[in-house]
Amino acid sequence: MVSRVIPVDPFDLVIFGGTGDLARRKILPALFRRYVAGQMGETSRIVGAARSEMDDAAYRDFVRDAVMEFDPPQGEAATQLDGFLEQVGYVTLDATGHGGWAELAARLKDKRAVQAFYFSVGPSLFGALAERLHQHGMAGEGTRIVVEKPFGRDEESARKLNATLAEHFDEGQIYRIDHYLGKETVQNLMAVRFGNMLFEPLWNAQYVDHIQITVAETVGVGGRGEYYDKSGAMRDMLQNHMMQLLCLIAMEPPAKFDPDAVRDEKLKVIRALDEVKPEDVVRGQYEAEDGKADYRTQVENKASTTESFVALKLHISNWRWAGTPFYLRTGKRLRAKVSEIAVVFKETPHSIFGAEAGRHRNILTIRLQPNEGMDLGVTIKEPGPGGMRLVDVPLDMTFADALGPDAEDVPDAYERLIMDVIRGNQTLFMRGDEVEAAWAWTDPIIAGWEARGDEPEPYETGSSGPEEALALMHRDGRRWRDIRA
Ligand code: NAP
Repeated sequence: MVSRVIPVDPFDLVIFGGTGDLARRKILPALFRRYVAGQMGETSRIVGAARSEMDDAAYRDFVRDAVMEFDPPQGEAATQLDGFLEQVGYVTLDATGHGGWAELAARLKDKRAVQAFYFSVGPSLFGALAERLHQHGMAGEGTRIVVEKPFGRDEESARKLNATLAEHFDEGQIYRIDHYLGKETVQNLMAVRFGNMLFEPLWNAQYVDHIQITVAETVGVGGRGEYYDKSGAMRDMLQNHMMQLLCLIAMEPPAKFDPDAVRDEKLKVIRALDEVKPEDVVRGQYEAEDGKADYRTQVENKASTTESFVALKLHISNWRWAGTPFYLRTGKRLRAKVSEIAVVFKETPHSIFGAEAGRHRNILTIRLQPNEGMDLGVTIKEPGPGGMRLVDVPLDMTFADALGPDAEDVPDAYERLIMDVIRGNQTLFMRGDEVEAAWAWTDPIIAGWEARGDEPEPYETGSSGPEEALALMHRDGRRWRDIRA
């Protein structure tokens, strides 16, 4: 198999917050990888912009250090770093001030085919940036802007942010990033569902017993305690990343693979979500273990009731899913770092092999990490003599094995998404109404906790979360899959 890299049109990409953590860790190394892949073109330009005083040369050193720290190039690629840096520059400016903006506009005067502005700063600066771009003539028709999560902290703030951006940009110019959507497996989920005859006829409440979505981390809040304590697992993970996974797994087939067709179907899923009953949600907070601090020690508020774990059961009230529960859980300091979706099919209506053959179910597991891929558990006869004993075996499709060396060339989420911005393809970005609808569903759950004064349940570091989360499934006669790397 030969991987195809189609160069994008020449572009200008301005990174507001070009000296920040996200730029260093993700955006700049991703751009360099696309340069090495031959996708960026020789005339494209990257301009970092922030308040720190720096000239082009100093910023190039900064970018070099970022690439070497977070994704050091190997072999031939290492020789290309100098060439990449020649396409990088820097402008000192304050989003809320006036200095620097004329210089930025002057630099961009000689326009490339595409002009994009990455708002890699806190959302409180989105309005100021949009306004300044407009004032300095850089918010024209073809301009694209990229914004990061958190996109609001409730429906009202998300609406305000959308309205602020809408003052100067159309929806078709706004790219709201959820990097989960850029993952190869997530897109493969759509390929598997809508490119095969095998699954879609079974993809409904008649054949699916339930669906589990797990995003487990082993790390705690670390240095992000201050930010995290204001959001918690529900706002930080469930409302955005997990909701997006839920939409892709549950949506109806769009008529075509185009941005609005896909996003219309995702929106319908969110709008069909039932209100979640208080007894169907479990929140948790990790305890100390093995010399590691507990949650409250790592945040400023020593009586914090913010959750580092949340598990819930939800229902989608539509023709396809009525009666099939979805169980979602996410948390920090859990047993392993794993993100997966498991579609658990129903048992056969009758076992011709008798009770001694046991109960068996097909499970389609879609792994986002580690070892991106899918496996389908199928039931076969245990080999050898001794009668008809049944055993479940996986039909494994780990992408790295199935696709050989090409799997290593698969762009990571940020590479793909940034190139999609340049290509003008919004399919993998969240539309404003989707984000608002997701908050509208999440808000009453959080409001309920606050009104009741709910305390999160403690759970052990390295566990699968609080006991209550296990009980959430046990009382339905089901069990979570093991959290295993
Ligand atoms: P950060 O490390 O605090 O960086 C913020 C950047 O904004 C810096 O470059 C800062 O540079 C610049 N800045 C701050 N105030 C400014 C102003 N008034 N005018 C111009 N530039 C200004 O934050 P970050 O982690 O990179 O995050 C950026 C955004 O992405 C945030 O909204 C965050 O929630 C989101 N995000 C981050 C990550 C991640 O992994 N880091 C992941 C997902 C989402 P100066 O101080 O030099 O101005």
